[in-house]
Amino acid sequence: MKTGPILPGSTIGCLGGGQLGRMFALAARKMGYRVHTVDPTPDSPTGQISDREYNVPFTEIPTLLKFAEGVDVVTYEFENIPVEALDALVPYVTLRPGRDVLYTTQNRRREKEFLQGNNFPVAPFRVVTSETELREAVSALGCPCVLKTADFGYDGKGQQKIAYETDLAEVWRRHGAAAGVVEAWVPFAAELSVVVGRGVKGADDETPVVAFPPTLNEHENHILATSVAPAPLAASILARAQTIASEIAARLDVTGLLAVEFFLTRRGDLLVNELAPRPHNSGHYSFDACVTSQFEQQLRAVCGLPLGDTRLLSPVLMHNLLGDVWEKGTPDWPALLALPGLRLHLYGKSEPRRGRKMGHYCILSSSLDQAWEIDEQAQKILGR
Ligand code: AMP
Repeated sequence: MKTGPILPGSTIGCLGGGQLGRMFALAARKMGYRVHTVDPTPDSPTGQISDREYNVPFTEIPTLLKFAEGVDVVTYEFENIPVEALDALVPYVTLRPGRDVLYTTQNRRREKEFLQGNNFPVAPFRVVTSETELREAVSALGCPCVLKTADFGYDGKGQQKIAYETDLAEVWRRHGAAAGVVEAWVPFAAELSVVVGRGVKGADDETPVVAFPPTLNEHENHILATSVAPAPLAASILARAQTIASEIAARLDVTGLLAVEFFLTRRGDLLVNELAPRPHNSGHYSFDACVTSQFEQQLRAVCGLPLGDTRLLSPVLMHNLLGDVWEKGTPDWPALLALPGLRLHLYGKSEPRRGRKMGHYCILSSSLDQAWEIDEQAQKILGR
């Protein structure tokens, strides 16, 4: 295994072939690195940008070991990699962020218990393993509340909102998993998120941590729709969010990126909703609007290089393009691209399914008000 910085010309391994890996690979290639990726599906968004794509399930250890032989460091672009795969790789190749970070954050129960156990602010919750425990949790937390699956949850998948009149037997039946987390419903004033990069400890024994500017996020049907920066919230709230996110990254000993999603309560408190040890959808704006993008920061961090400047160069609005937009045929890209300050990103996915993230655009403008006006025109062009 290598010690010291992993320099341009080296090969980075990426577990997962989605759009986050794709944009990471673009950043890596820009700086002269090679990229090998593993994803079960051929021609994945990351695979299209990579020098090599291994199309095997993450559980196929012999191929993973071959993959490890050909790379200088391994990172991942989504949480749902089985830990057995990581355990098999760790003796042979540097994995950043490490195995334990993924183990904690890929399961909502472990993540919440980690956060609570380390005194980070979270919404009240209970872990439940039966209908009886669900009933107890609902009466302790009050309604509304929400039952979430412990494993493999993202974009609101596996979530059921519970009101006083909800049939809990039916909720538990539909849940269909051994464990779940019941969370109090947070009537939030806003949702925001912060991506932080954390590097490799230097000779001075200091571990660099650099936060990106927080974004204000809006979700539709539990899926992120828009993010804007600079987030139009009090500077003290933004600074607090950056501090909490940096502290969590340090506590988890992340080498790489950590994205932290927050609820801002009406009283002005921040509650941590979710963690992701990888680039995040809400950080896509940085690709177009920051000195260093979250993808280049991931690269710098996992390669043990100095972290980049995260300064925001322009007000920016990011809007996701879901498969729904294709329902009436291919969108009018030329009309969209004629809008001032609009930058289009498409992920190379061939099948535009409903709710599937196919791409996004960013609008860079002199003010967020103006960016929202241009976004309105963009949404009209897209038939929304
Ligand atoms: P999650 O997958 O847990 O991040 O949930 C997706 C989205 O659902 C969040 O970004 C919120 O908009 C909403 N949501 C989830 N949990 C809660 C909660 N406890 N209170 C209010 N809204 C929630």
